Amino acid sequence: MRKPIIAGNWKMYKTLGEARELVAGLLAGLGDATDREVVVCPPYTALASVGEQVANTGISLGAQEVFYEAQGAFTGAIAPQMLCDVGCRYVIVGHSERRQFFGDTDASVNRKLHAALANGLRPIMCVGESKPQRDAGEAEAIVTAQVRAGLAGVSAAQMAEVVIAYEPIWAIGTGDTATSADAQAMHAAIRATLAELFGAETAQTVRIQYGGSVKPDNIDELMAQPDIDGALVGGASLKADSFLRIIQFQ
Ligand code: PGA
Repeated sequence: MRKPIIAGNWKMYKTLGEARELVAGLLAGLGDATDREVVVCPPYTALASVGEQVANTGISLGAQEVFYEAQGAFTGAIAPQMLCDVGCRYVIVGHSERRQFFGDTDASVNRKLHAALANGLRPIMCVGESKPQRDAGEAEAIVTAQVRAGLAGVSAAQMAEVVIAYEPIWAIGTGDTATSADAQAMHAAIRATLAELFGAETAQTVRIQYGGSVKPDNIDELMAQPDIDGALVGGASLKADSFLRIIQFQ
């Protein structure tokens, strides 16, 4: 009932030419499976061009970040409508790297999520704990608090457009994935929080991705977990063959 969603977060990688080459490779190998959704999130400089390349294909376009104002004197920022303009359907908000290096807080993530929704973009909201927080036994409390704060003021109807990505910070780019059992336990806790906030029925429809060193050799086990509905993939989304294998999870 929840359509799996595999998204590639390219981060600060790929020139325009490299981006187009990667997308050409993905399109060549994608096939026409309609039982799963595929999203690529290139850097801003490649969005318009990749947007043209993936129009009317099985790949949707996403951005890695958005600002919450509609326009104005905000040097360096990109507004939701600008993302729609180049064909974006999705936008990542609250990635831990944005929280760590660019000052995102639960409050700013919440504003960005509302701005995305108001403009017809589907937010992929990232949450996740650090290693010290996990070691202190606080992971679930931290993550569910991020979910509550990030989704403040969102209606149950709007949740149809929201994707949540659980990304333990210590697993991102480290090769150190959460075990599928640990990931499943956190996904279940997130879904229980969604049930409290929006009702059990809505909670059952929200897709929750896992992210953090997802690779061709661990995707099948992760996707076999009942509350894991997709993956947000960094490093392994930068090469067509590995991302295609992840998309083709069993
Ligand atoms: P990774 O990144 O797959 O390289 O660990 C995931 C992410 O940060 O979204």
